[in-house]
Amino acid sequence: MEYRAFLIKYAEIALKGKNRYLFENALVDQIRRALKKVEGDFQVRKEQGRIYVERRSDYCDYEECVQALQRVFGIVRICPVVILEDQGFEQLAADACSYIEKFYPDCSKTFKVNARRARKSYPLQSMEINAQLGEAVLETFPKTRVDVHHPELMLNVEIREKIYIYSQEIPGLGGMPAGCNGKAMLLLSGGIDSPVAGYMISRRGVSIDAVYFHAPPYTSDRARQKVVDLAAQVSKYCGPVRLYVVNFTDIQLYIYDQCPHDELTIHMRRYMMRIAEHFAVENKCQGLVTGESIGQVASQTMQSLTATNQVCTLPVYRPLIAFDKQDIVEIAQKIDTYETSVLPYEDCCTIFVAKHPVTKPTLKSIEKSERKLEGRIQELVDQAIETTEVVKIGFD
Ligand code: ATP
Ligand code: MG
Repeated sequence: MEYRAFLIKYAEIALKGKNRYLFENALVDQIRRALKKVEGDFQVRKEQGRIYVERRSDYCDYEECVQALQRVFGIVRICPVVILEDQGFEQLAADACSYIEKFYPDCSKTFKVNARRARKSYPLQSMEINAQLGEAVLETFPKTRVDVHHPELMLNVEIREKIYIYSQEIPGLGGMPAGCNGKAMLLLSGGIDSPVAGYMISRRGVSIDAVYFHAPPYTSDRARQKVVDLAAQVSKYCGPVRLYVVNFTDIQLYIYDQCPHDELTIHMRRYMMRIAEHFAVENKCQGLVTGESIGQVASQTMQSLTATNQVCTLPVYRPLIAFDKQDIVEIAQKIDTYETSVLPYEDCCTIFVAKHPVTKPTLKSIEKSERKLEGRIQELVDQAIETTEVVKIGFD
């Protein structure tokens, strides 16, 4: 007796009425994508409002398989299942006992049988199966006890063409399957926040492309590689990512030359947003995403965010807007981006940052200084766009 399949439980997507099948199909696609990298041959199928992952090969790495499924948004619980041929009730009772013996070898848990008769021609009704299987278990294992309210072991028995037995429920990530809610452009830096922001938005079913601004030679290849690595880590959850690497050096130097230094970060951000929006529109994204959080730094006060936001036409999603740093760090650790994010490579913003940046910029003053850029800025922006390099991450 061994696990040959997983029953995949999903919650929210079950509520989507007529669109339900679209969400289910997206989930099936994402499960297939996640399992591609796992050794073994798997079949993913939908059956009567359920999704099953069945192993066809003799061998698979069970742990690796569970880990892959635990990275798929939209899955609420992953239940390893034993599948049996229907050979009559006597045999089912014997098999249920073997199941307990194999997976709960102390055979002394409180339990409840939860039968579901999806095949209506089965000779016993669900309640009868519950009662008779319960009796068989109690007889075989005298140390067990029935507890219908809080059983330690919920023995689920589903009667379909074949018979499915499961008890264990491994938590999944929840959320919605990647790609079922459009696409957004993430401004991805090498910091802690933006990879988490990307993860959070894609947990709601949004696919992601990303844009990174670097400033060679002020920022190194290692800093760039760090961002590529972060994008690769986030893509384990959200699927393939096209990373736009924009050379921002000349724009930064020009801003540094022309604008008051206490406003530098705001001006840089405004140009980052404009360029990110250019690629977002070109790439049919419905929004921008940043890792900003109110008050975290001078460029993220309400006034600074207003100044940055002003230049965008697309909505800017900021999933971390009300998060404390510590909460963000915890998510970064959970999704395994933290270790990479804290590598000490320079960021293009930190190099040109002022000692005392404005915290309450007014739109009027920002626009006034921005006018000083009119001479060359469009040319520099065009040049940055033209020389942008696209790195494809996580495509098969
Ligand atoms: P992070 O940890 O994500 O770097 P941060 O706390 O360092 O965030 P800022 O440097 O103020 O915050 O950046 C705010 C947001 O602006 C980032 O979360 C990111 O979305 C975007 N951003 C900043 N620098 C870059 C960059 N070099 N390339 C792309 N996006 C950037
Ligand atoms: Mg940063």
